[in-house]
Amino acid sequence: MDQHTSLTATCHCGAISITLKSAPAEITHCNCTLCRRYGVLWAYYPIAEVVVEARQPTDTYAWNGKNVDFHRCGTCGCITHWLPRKPTRTSMGINARLIEPGSLKNAEINYKDAAGTGLFF
Ligand SMILES: [Zn+2]
Repeated sequence: MDQHTSLTATCHCGAISITLKSAPAEITHCNCTLCRRYGVLWAYYPIAEVVVEARQPTDTYAWNGKNVDFHRCGTCGCITHWLPRKPTRTSMGINARLIEPGSLKNAEINYKDAAGTGLFF
């Protein structure tokens, strides 16, 4: 697939759709206490390049330092994205599990050991 073609990630019921400018080149698998339970893969994008359309308000969850809000669909429960609370932060995370698998086949998976060293392995 052309990396410069925009694509849309949606939750299972379709209430939330996220339009991205391009397929992610890298996605992050994190083993922290939250991400391993969510079972998500994160793709990071500049907030300004992402369009989130929600037919209903999302539910959110924040933990630890409450630096970011994790958003999920109130109907189907899919984790869709996270957004930083600090306005100076410019990146957000998209749950790459919402992207069609064909658009991820060239993406490199980075395994982050957030539960241990905090480093990538
Ligand atoms: Zn949904």
